[in-house]
Amino acid sequence: MPEKLIFELSSQGRCGYSLPEIDVPQKEISDILPQEKIRKNLCLPEVSEVDVVRHFTRLSILNHHVDKRFYPLGSCTMKYNPKVDEDVAKLAGFSDIHPLQPEETVQGALKLMYELSEYLKEIGGVDSITLQPSAGAQGELAGLLITSAYHRKNKQKRSKVIIPDSAHGTNPASVVTSGYLPVQVKSNGKGLVDVEELKKLTDEDVAAFMLTNPNTLGLFESQIERIEKIVHDAGALLYMDGANLNALMGIVRPGDMGFDIVHFNLHKTFSTPHGGGGPGSGPLGVKRNLACFLPVPVVEKRKNKKERYFLNYNLPFSIGKIQAFYGNFGVLVKAYAYIRACGAPGLKNISETSIINANYLMATLEKFFYLPYKSFCMHEFVLSGIKQKEKGVRTLDIAKRLLDYGVHPPTIYFPLIVSEALMIEPTESESKESLDEFIEFMIKIAKEVEENPELVKSAPHNTPVLRLDEVKASRELDVRWEKNPK
Ligand SMILES: *Cc1c(COP(=O)(O)O)cnc(C)c1O
Repeated sequence: MPEKLIFELSSQGRCGYSLPEIDVPQKEISDILPQEKIRKNLCLPEVSEVDVVRHFTRLSILNHHVDKRFYPLGSCTMKYNPKVDEDVAKLAGFSDIHPLQPEETVQGALKLMYELSEYLKEIGGVDSITLQPSAGAQGELAGLLITSAYHRKNKQKRSKVIIPDSAHGTNPASVVTSGYLPVQVKSNGKGLVDVEELKKLTDEDVAAFMLTNPNTLGLFESQIERIEKIVHDAGALLYMDGANLNALMGIVRPGDMGFDIVHFNLHKTFSTPHGGGGPGSGPLGVKRNLACFLPVPVVEKRKNKKERYFLNYNLPFSIGKIQAFYGNFGVLVKAYAYIRACGAPGLKNISETSIINANYLMATLEKFFYLPYKSFCMHEFVLSGIKQKEKGVRTLDIAKRLLDYGVHPPTIYFPLIVSEALMIEPTESESKESLDEFIEFMIKIAKEVEENPELVKSAPHNTPVLRLDEVKASRELDVRWEKNPK
């Protein structure tokens, strides 16, 4: 049943509130408001409280979300976000403070930011942190601006940044936005950086190499030590896109692999609900020699003073502010609560479990879908729908058919180097039962492609809206429910 508009639920005289009898002098609205502000026909729905609650509860589950069912959207780390983190972020001492309050009145908040930075330093193997960037993409931009400031300070002009052909779209975008020229390095037959080609491309004009590890195929860049040497020998910096940190925590640290700069996606790895448009947080970690370029202010701690935590604006080589105030504070609180609740062994367990879950799915599904890069994977893997395409069924159709089974489809058509890509990231939050259920749906769809491809090509069949013209739907947003949709 399509959900009606709340206006269509309206019934004359029905009411959703009851107020106590008035105990102050009553006034006419026209005595309080100017005439032109008073609306003659205020058309509001007349509904009871239970009508309202049920209507919005139904609306809230029309769309897919991670609290409803499996959400294996590759690269996005759609893990379950513990509700207690929301409760903590809502505590008045965190939610009712103002960024312009004097430091002595917000020592707790500053302490939280300081300690979160310490944890991220330990997890990332880096020396300094800024919590300011509001997403991974903004962390990338900050990191590249730091790269640029670093070379400028060394009186070096460098114009290029190398990125692999499997990179996330934000990487080239950040490179261009920061004034550099992106240069692509190809992946080899194993889905890893072609180190020989990297060597050829890395000259005195290269400012940095941006690498995602594990890469977007879910494969660990096992040549990282050679890569590190090539990049540093040329005087360039090594940047890690840390979006896939969910595979590494407690196992290996970006700083120890030789990365100079790394961003964290707190909303992915450290449990903030995302996918609905934010807010996110993309802290950036750097090695000691780059700390002087961080955005201001940074949170620091004094010894032996009552007001121990303070904001330091005195970084002479700082790239300046990249975000209002100190970042998306609520997301920082959630990440802090999550890290504290998990502890170091818990974080390691997250990475190990996410790797085991992904390998279990991969090993089972490769019998039904083409696996372009055969190797153990990290926390995610990429299948290709090319076998199914021979039957005229595209990966997009498979994704739509999964909606009929009530799970969110994987990421599709990314990374770009795999045709008809299906990028699957189960995360650590899923039980064996939910993984098996997903396997069952995927096998069913593979059989449907063989026996009844039209069924898959015309999916979805039982979602609130059927197949949309996606461009038209986003350009000409229409959220009205029609009795007889065209
Ligand atoms: C998500 C993601 C990004 C961008 O991060 P946002 O927080 O969405 O800006 C960059 N690289 C990879 C590999 C990602 O998965």
